[in-house]
Amino acid sequence: MVQGDRVHTYEALPGRVVFGVGAARTELAAEVDRLGAAKVLLIASRHDGDRVGELAEPLGDRVTATFTDVREHVPVATAEAARAAAAGVDAVLAIGGGSTIGAAKAVALTTRLPVLAVPTTYAGSEVTPVWGTSEGDRKTTGTDLAVLPRTVVYDPELTVSLPDELAVASALNAMAHCVEAFWAPRRNPISSVVAEEGVRSLAAGLAGEGLARATDLLRGAWLAGTAFAVAGTGLHHKLAHVLGGFGMPHARTHAVLLPHVLAFTAPGAPEAVERIGRALGTDDGVAGLRALGARAGVPAGLRELGLAADQLDEVVARTAAVVPADHPVPVDEAALARLVRNAWEGA
Ligand code: NAD
Repeated sequence: MVQGDRVHTYEALPGRVVFGVGAARTELAAEVDRLGAAKVLLIASRHDGDRVGELAEPLGDRVTATFTDVREHVPVATAEAARAAAAGVDAVLAIGGGSTIGAAKAVALTTRLPVLAVPTTYAGSEVTPVWGTSEGDRKTTGTDLAVLPRTVVYDPELTVSLPDELAVASALNAMAHCVEAFWAPRRNPISSVVAEEGVRSLAAGLAGEGLARATDLLRGAWLAGTAFAVAGTGLHHKLAHVLGGFGMPHARTHAVLLPHVLAFTAPGAPEAVERIGRALGTDDGVAGLRALGARAGVPAGLRELGLAADQLDEVVARTAAVVPADHPVPVDEAALARLVRNAWEGA
């Protein structure tokens, strides 16, 4: 059983979502108005300059500051620079992937400013109250409602331009949120329903094309982030988080890891495997996920993403220290070492 007869709680998160093709072109000014913001800090990656400039145009001179030095995993120095850029504004508009939204969350964490998030990937951070910063090879994360974006504008026109490899990896990152929501510590009947529908929408998107594909994937990303935000993080995310500290690419690491963690967990989570399989249109969730990854060209093992063999022991030791106690199968260091070795080899 996934829910079993354990006591479970469900806490709904606040937040307004506007979803639709073209919404980022047509709705941003009204959503800034709704937040009552007269001075806005725009955070976006410098690689996205032209498009972001067009999207921000309707805001006119309400964008009084910009921050473009966005970096993956929000180094502490990046967080501090973004906070300095926020002096005097009354809202933060973040247009970009999880790294960009992460910078906005770092600002909100200390300033309590409201965030309007416009995601351009499928990472799902925009609907979670989780923040993260990094220092050297260590990531620190925490949960604070102040970092949960007050408003999210989802527009498939923005993700349709993702290069295919990035779109697939990002969609499988969202898939990981859904899959792990079935056994994460705060799982509950609502998060499982949302997660199952997220798997379905993401799988439909991965099989689709163009704007329809982007729409299914973005809806899936929203569902995935929502399930993840409520259910919390389990073994898969703990492991991915540790690997992030070793400089591994976030989304592709999730994509490689996921079938390995599901196969490892499956003996203790038959309901999860069945529901995941059902959403993927197959009897076997593990096989379905493997096939999806293979079709999408995901590398089989972490070594193909640059993790060195002599780093595995440290990955195991750091993960063992943070694995949730109620994972559906026992996770001692020996079991974890086998899982990490399999995921590294792509066995
Ligand atoms: P990212 O934001 O780093 O973006 C990856 C790359 O894609 C960047 O080079 C970016 O410029 C480019 N890009 C983004 N959107 C694009 C588009 N539409 N078209 C073309 N290129 C585009 O990657 P990500 O996977 O979105 O986010 C990863 C980060 O988010 C990690 O730091 C991770 O820890 C964090 N994250 C946090 C949460 C949370 O709940 N706090 C959830 C998921 C991810």
